[in-house]
Amino acid sequence: MIERLNGYDILVIGGGNAALCAAISARRDGASVLVVEGAPKFYRGGNTRHTRNMRCAHDSATDTLSGPYYEDEFFEDLWRVTGGNTDERLARMMIAESKDMLNWIAEQGVRFQPSLGGTLSLGRTNSFFLGGGRAMLNALYRTAHDLGVEVIYDAEVVGLDIADGRFQAATVRHGGKDHVITAKALVAASGGFEANIDWLKVGWGEIAENFLIRGTPYNRGTVLKMLLDHGVEQIGDPTQCHAVAIDARAPKYDGGIITRLDCVVFGIVVNKHAERFYDEGEDVWPKRYAIWGRLVAAQPDQIAYIIFDAPSLELFMPSLFPPIKAQSIEELAQKLNLPAAELEATMAQFNAAVQPGTFDHTTLDDCRTEGLTPPKSHWARRIETAPFYAYPVRPGITFTYLGVRVNEQSRMLMADGRPADNMFAAGEIMAGNVLGQGYAAGIGMTIGSVFGRIAGREAAAQVRIGDAAPATVMEIA
Ligand SMILES: Cc1cc2nc3c(=O)[nH]c(=O)nc-3n(C[C@H](O)[C@H](O)[C@H](O)COP(=O)(O)OP(=O)(O)OC[C@H]3O[C@@H](n4cnc5c(N)ncnc54)[C@H](O)[C@@H]3O)c2cc1C
Repeated sequence: MIERLNGYDILVIGGGNAALCAAISARRDGASVLVVEGAPKFYRGGNTRHTRNMRCAHDSATDTLSGPYYEDEFFEDLWRVTGGNTDERLARMMIAESKDMLNWIAEQGVRFQPSLGGTLSLGRTNSFFLGGGRAMLNALYRTAHDLGVEVIYDAEVVGLDIADGRFQAATVRHGGKDHVITAKALVAASGGFEANIDWLKVGWGEIAENFLIRGTPYNRGTVLKMLLDHGVEQIGDPTQCHAVAIDARAPKYDGGIITRLDCVVFGIVVNKHAERFYDEGEDVWPKRYAIWGRLVAAQPDQIAYIIFDAPSLELFMPSLFPPIKAQSIEELAQKLNLPAAELEATMAQFNAAVQPGTFDHTTLDDCRTEGLTPPKSHWARRIETAPFYAYPVRPGITFTYLGVRVNEQSRMLMADGRPADNMFAAGEIMAGNVLGQGYAAGIGMTIGSVFGRIAGREAAAQVRIGDAAPATVMEIA
């Protein structure tokens, strides 16, 4: 089947949001586009399948967003969560472009719904996809198909031919054979390297064996590695990633959103020695949930336990596995295999430090501890009403930040500072340009959509002015 796939202007590697936005945008600008997705069709769409929302700036409320979210506020949020570790020029450009994204993505068939309430508190800032990430992707694939974008599944890129900053061809493994596909321009949208435990170990050491990968097993960083080996400039640090605390009983890969636990703010979190190690009530959950993966990664054996009591049970979104339940702290300790005396002491110390206040999980309330290290700054209530509950948690890696450096055209930059001739990147593979560290909910999809759209547009423009030879596909033995 692959023999007929010749003569394309643009080769897009990947099958998630960034790839599809790039493919659609390039096709709408008149280029012919081939998308190669490493996963089988059922699993198409990488981590995008698991998403629920996207963060875009907007100047007024919409049908589904409860109020304005101005560019400056978006930038301040990004600046705060990254600790200033972002390319300000690119970040501001992305945020400005995100304003049009709500319209553009809807024009591609994606529908939105109002945010759910509860701990997420995203109703003003983030647009939720009607039907979730998979429905969002289905809409993009349908539009791409209708526009004439070709997609091959089960087509892993295993080689890249790049000479002096110019993409020549990709080797694609498909149907038990390797095929060489040439194109006039390349868009790399093949995700990070989060599913490659050996690569994670380079930054994290052996403890990476204890990490769970929340998304696709297909994002192994093969294309990213080849691009870096061919002289594209690297951006970001190998240990920086989006990592949350997820249920320790989750599968190794692809557990998705239903294994995430949003109840940290309602209880305390202890390590395997029954010791607390961080302020569980530091800030509203959307601004803090993404630090807990790293915090748990720093604990012995990379395991921790969220503990709360009966009044909190129904305050947060239920997850896949039920909590472990006990009538006393001692019984809970036994079930969790924690030292009972230490856990009872930790609980007693915490309860004694809780100050009177008015509990309100939708604001930074005045329920806090005094004289406790670490403190619990908000939502601190005594944990004393049986039954008691616990969730065991491990670091759940969502996506890595180390990537290829790009400019405002989403064009890759070479290590010697030159812009690449005909190579563009979008999504996780270049997330580190915007996310040096930290995270605010919904930015992953902003990065993929905005830079994907730009990459497609710029690749199409490149092809129009380009001088490359016509694209061909050859089978090799
Ligand atoms: C559980 C979970 C929930 C999330 N929720 C949200 C959310 O609500 N909002 C948000 O903004 N972000 C969320 N994220 C992050 C978000 O998923 C990513 O930031 C975003 O989807 C990245 O898009 P992408 O297109 O760059 O990568 P992906 O969607 O991961 O796509 C990468 C694609 O590349 C393909 N690929 C990889 N290697 C090769 C190769 N060698 N050859 C060919 N193809 C290859 C993969 O098969 C995959 O299709 C979530 C992530 C997870 C795991």
